[in-house]
Order: sequence, then C-alpha cells, then structure tokens
Amino acid sequence: MIGIGQATPRDARQRLKILSYHSVTPKARGTKWRVPVARFQAQMQYLVDRAIPVLPLLEAVHRLQASTHPPVAVAITFDDGYLDNYTYALPILQSLCLPATLFVVGDEAWSDRAGPAGDDQTRMGWAHVGEWLRAGIEVGVHGMHHVEMLNMDDEQLEAELVTARRIIAERLGTRPSPIFAYPYALSNSRVREATRAAGYACAVGGSSPRPCSARTDPFDLHRETVYGNTPLWAFSAKADPRWSLPRLLWDVPARRAMSFGRTLLCPAVRRALLNTRSDAHHGDMP
Ligand SMILES: [Zn+2]
Repeated sequence: MIGIGQATPRDARQRLKILSYHSVTPKARGTKWRVPVARFQAQMQYLVDRAIPVLPLLEAVHRLQASTHPPVAVAITFDDGYLDNYTYALPILQSLCLPATLFVVGDEAWSDRAGPAGDDQTRMGWAHVGEWLRAGIEVGVHGMHHVEMLNMDDEQLEAELVTARRIIAERLGTRPSPIFAYPYALSNSRVREATRAAGYACAVGGSSPRPCSARTDPFDLHRETVYGNTPLWAFSAKADPRWSLPRLLWDVPARRAMSFGRTLLCPAVRRALLNTRSDAHHGDMP
C-alpha cells in the first residue's frame, strides 16, 4: 500500500468527495440533518446525469492509494442508521445502481437515544442493516456507544473500535468493512493511531469542502455534510470536485432559465395535448 508521503503529483489530482448524510425523510422540517426524500432523489440523479463516478468508500480509498482512482469520484455515506435511510434512501440508490457506505453503532441500546436528526427518528434493526449488505452496500463501524472518543483511555478505545466491530459482526453474521466513522467527527492523533492499530483500513472525520486525495491521511478523511436545506446548485458544489465559480455563474442562471421555460411551456403543451385528445374523443360531436 502506498503511504501518504509517497504520493506523486499525479496522485494528488485524483480527487474524492465523501458526502455525509443522516436522515432522509418526507418529514424533513425541524432540523438541518433531515434531507427531504425528493431532494435526495434529485441529488442522486444529478450524480448520474453528470456521470460523476460513485464508488464504495473503501474501494475509493484503496484506489487513491494505488493511483487507480478516477480523476474525480464521489462516495456516499450515511451515519447513525436511521430507519428512513432503509425506507427511502436505499430504494433510490438501488434504482440508480449507486453504491454507498452505511455506518452503524454496535450498542443496540443506543438506538433508543436521540440522534442529531431528532428523537422521533427510529433507527434500523439488524435485519434492516442486513438488507443493505444483501443490496451490495458496505457497512462500516460508528463506534460502540456513539460517544466522543478524544479523552478515552485504552480500554474505552478498545470497546469503541474492537468490541463494536465484533458485536456488529455477530449481529450481521459477517465482518463489517474495515472503515470507521468517528462519532461527532472528532478525532486526535491518539484516536487515529488506535484506529489504525485496531486493524481498520481508513476512517472518516471532520467536515471540509476540500476533496480528499492520495495525500490525505486515510485515518483523517474529511467529508462534506449534505443538509436538508442544501439546494441542488450547492449540492453540485459539494459533490463535484471539478466545480468552480465560473460553473456556478453559468449553472444557476441556466437552471433558472430552464425552470422558467418549463413553467411557461408545460401548461401550454399540456393544454395542446388535452385539446388534441379532446378533439379525437369528441370529434364526431357537433
Ligand atoms: Zn453519528
């Protein structure tokens, strides 16, 4: 495996944006962590329409390190195991053949506690998580109790990193992917080293708009959070490493013009079609 310091200039041009989602729900009001289902669908369709490669996170990191990564790619991740991910997001991913990574917590009791998306958001059971695996989507580890790890002693770190992985493997009947998501995206050098020593291949942490590259520490990968109020043009900036100010200046007026055009044209086209059908149906009437 190629180390961080061995990246060539070409490696650094291979860029990965890691998107972070929490809840995907029709009841999206109240907190920025809930993304409306229709908006999520439009975002996934945007990736497909723009032909932006979407990779499972572990594969993307391996490809970055081996210099076989596409020039740009996106990895889609979900934290905290909300049931609405299974109900709404998974079918959309499957219909568009998009891979993703689901991060789950080892302690079942944690599923009774409120997460950032709100306390009325039910979490998945292990049977639901198993369905993600059967759909070919990788499952990573999000700790044992979903607690901040910065000031933990060795024993507590072991529980969050090793015991959590063992419990998840027992519940699912297979080992999770060797990817860890630090709870609350918080880590320090000690936590990162413990994660590496525990046998993980990589870990996701803090939020940043910068893409990851072969130069990024695989145990300090940064993600870009997609919020419930993120419009599509802002999503394009989060998801596409090729995104730039000139593109924004072009995209926003272009999309507004297309939307305006649809608003004007659609009723006219619909009326014309209705008149045609009406003529065909009632053509023999006076
Ligand atoms: Zn979390």
